[in-house]
This record gives sequence, structure tokens and C-alpha cells, in this order.
Amino acid sequence: MSRLSTAELQRLDSAHYLHPFTDFKQLAAKGARVITGAEGVWLIDSDGNRILDGMSGLWCVALGYGRKELADAAYRQMLELPYYNSFFQCAHPPAIELAQRLTEVTPPQFKHVFFTGSGSEANDTMVRLVRRYWQLRGEPARNVIVSRWNGYHGSTVAGASLGGMKPMHEQGGLPIPGIVHINQPYWFEEGGDLSPAEFGLRAARELAAKIEEIGPHRVAAFIGEPVQGAGGVIIPPETYWPEIQRICDHYGILLVSDEVICGFGRTGSWFGCEHFGTRPDLMPIAKGMSSGYLPIGGLMVADRVAQVLIDKGGEFFHGFTYSGHPAACAVSVACLDILRREKVVERVRDELAGYFAAKWRSLADHPLVGETRSLGLLGALELVPAKPSRRFFANRGEVGGACRDLCVANGVISRAVRDTMIVAPPLVITPAEIDELVVRVARALDQTAARVAKQHWA
Ligand SMILES: *Cc1c(COP(=O)(O)O)cnc(C)c1O
Repeated sequence: MSRLSTAELQRLDSAHYLHPFTDFKQLAAKGARVITGAEGVWLIDSDGNRILDGMSGLWCVALGYGRKELADAAYRQMLELPYYNSFFQCAHPPAIELAQRLTEVTPPQFKHVFFTGSGSEANDTMVRLVRRYWQLRGEPARNVIVSRWNGYHGSTVAGASLGGMKPMHEQGGLPIPGIVHINQPYWFEEGGDLSPAEFGLRAARELAAKIEEIGPHRVAAFIGEPVQGAGGVIIPPETYWPEIQRICDHYGILLVSDEVICGFGRTGSWFGCEHFGTRPDLMPIAKGMSSGYLPIGGLMVADRVAQVLIDKGGEFFHGFTYSGHPAACAVSVACLDILRREKVVERVRDELAGYFAAKWRSLADHPLVGETRSLGLLGALELVPAKPSRRFFANRGEVGGACRDLCVANGVISRAVRDTMIVAPPLVITPAEIDELVVRVARALDQTAARVAKQHWA
């Protein structure tokens, strides 16, 4: 690969490249940060700076960078069979092997998977498969899917409709028909005077109220992320998910646990639903499934749903050219092998989660921090103008954006969701690297506080 100067790369970038989730004009004025290499939890940019990747890329690089075993798996498969499809009654060994492996690590109700190229496609697949399921059951009126405001389920038309990001809806005439939203279990912002436990129940019971409003015979499914990721690492109160499960059971609707972030060990359990004790019927998966080394996703389908689709017969008119791509499947198989062989999930649960929680919690003493929270290797902190209130800065997002830039300047990637700072480091991070992550975020918080004082933000 040619090594152009940073300035030259930035010039070509803004001349030709429309980035995802980016203000093009703003980026052209500023110039992209160009990442040229990475090793373990460390990124290297085009100026040679080493930055601790506190976000695992986009929540996906669970095994860290530079894993030769994953590269070898892709290389071997590409020489042997770089591509073939699974349409028209064909298959190939990597997809078959991965399907079987996935049923070993997912909860016992899952015996089948539908492969996709991404998490968004997994959610699109879910919408079509759920509606087909109810048609086959003789209840075609059940086509409404209930989701949550500020949830994230991807960027395709169906994914963004399931998501509850209002700015996304406004740009595309979304949501599509048959998708409705209830409020999120975000105690810090919306909990009012209720205790977290009381608030968790109230937020869950909005599902029952919504089902009654729509008509129980019209509701097909409920979807939620066990912990909302892109929405700001929103960890629901412990009362929330059991009540959601109870309501889904009561009305006989399908429960979809979007495990694209929480799956494959992020919370310290293999899947987020296992941590919160739900029994989903469908699980969209992606991201950690291949540690991000190649794009792949899938929809895990519980037996009671899959058996209806299989027994009733008839073609499911749905699929992607790259559903079950051989090289991506081979990488995912290798990724699952490493997760199991190195006991990565157990190590997150038994060692790293507690260590990270204690270190992260120490940031709660900072004058700018209104709350810290963590689960597994997911962390968030709320930036506030005055403690101990749960009031946000008037110009929401500005302080968070400043803090994010100062994090990068201090050599750590943390993402700002409005004024919530979030991290999700690789699951292979060491305790010493967790110390380093927290030290760097703390330094950025001090510098953010100095800037807040100078600019009289309140
Ligand atoms: C990232 C994400 C998706 C979308 O996955 P893509 O691979 O980006 O399409 C869906 N659901 C959740 C919870 C996600 O975090």
C-alpha cells in the first residue's frame, strides 16, 4: 500500500469519500484521522501516534488487532473456495460448520441460524421472518413490531425504523409502517423521582400498554438490545427485562434480543439475554461474531419458530449474495474457537469486569461526572454541570464532543453520545491497559472541566 502523507490522504479523502454517520462539510474542514495499523488494543495513526482503542473499533474487535489465526483462516478459505452461495439448495463447509458452532454457544432454544452480511441485515431478516412466521401460523394480522426510542438496530430502512433515533427517522420518512416505539429504560434521564427498580417496571409496562393500544391480535414481536449501545450504554434496572419477558409470554408475542453488541462475551455472559435472564425467540448477531475481521451477521432462530417455517414448507423469499460468505464464516469459526480456547468470556466475567468496574467507578468522584455505570466491558459516564443533580448541560452534546476530542488528544478512543461518554474496549484488554484507559479518560475529564469553566458552559 502506498504511504501518502497525512495531508495528502486527508485531501483525497474529503475529495472522494462520503463517510458513514458524518457531516461531510465539517469533516472536509477538519480532515479525517487516518488509522494505518493496530496491534492488540492499540491503534496507530498516520502520524505514528498510538491510541488505546476504548471502543473496539465499532464494538466489534473483541479479540483485539493483529490476530494471525483469523487472517490465516480467511487466507486459507479464500484459496480453497473464495465464494459460493447458499441459494438454490447449495452449501459449503464453512457455513455449515459455523451454523453448528453457533448452536453450541448460544442458549439451548437456538438450533438454527440465517446468515447475513451485517447486523442491519440481520434485523431486516428478522422483520421479514417474524411476519412470515405469523402468516404461516394463520395470524397474518400480527405484523406490528414494538421497539424503543433511542434503541439502535442498524442503518438499513428496516433497521433504522426499528431503531428509535429520531434524527435518522427524520432524514428518511421513517419508520416504515408496522413499527412502533415505547420509551427506553434510561433511569438517569427519565427516571424522575422513582427508584431505578420502580422505574424499570414502569418502563417495561409501557410494552403492555402499547400492546393493548394496538390490539394484542396485531402485535408480532418486541425487540430490544439487552444494554442499549449506540444510545449511550444504557444498562436497564434489574427489574426491566424479567417484566418484559413476562409481558411477551402473557400476550404470546415473540421476543427479539438484539445481541449485535452484547453477544459473544461483551457483558461477561456469552449473550446479554443470559445476563438478564430472558429467553428470546430470535437473536440478531454480528460484530463480535467475527471480531470485525470480516463482515458477517446472522439471525439466530429458536426451535419453536424455525419448526413452523420448516414444517409448513414454502419458499422464504429472502437472502443476500453474501449470506454465509465462506471466508467470513471461516473467520467466525476461528473467532469462536479462540473465544472458547482462551476462555475469553469467563475471563471477562470472573476477572476483568470487576476490575474495570472498580476503576471506572473511581471516575465518579470527578466534579464533571454525575454517574458512572458499567457491565462486563461496557462503561458509561454522564457529564453534568452540577452534582449531584441529574440535569444535563443546556447545550447538549457540546461538552461531550469536547471531551471526546480531548480523549483522542490523550491517546484513548471514547465515544460521546450527547454528553454521555462511553467505552467498550477489546475483551482481551489487560488490567494494566484498563488502568491506562482510565488514567487517560481522567486526564481528558480534567481538561474538559477546565474548558467548561473558561467558557461558562452550564
Ligand atoms: C451495530 C448494530 C447494529 C447494526 O449492525 P451493522 O453491522 O452496522 O449493520 C444492529 N444492532 C445493534 C444493537 C448494533 O449495535
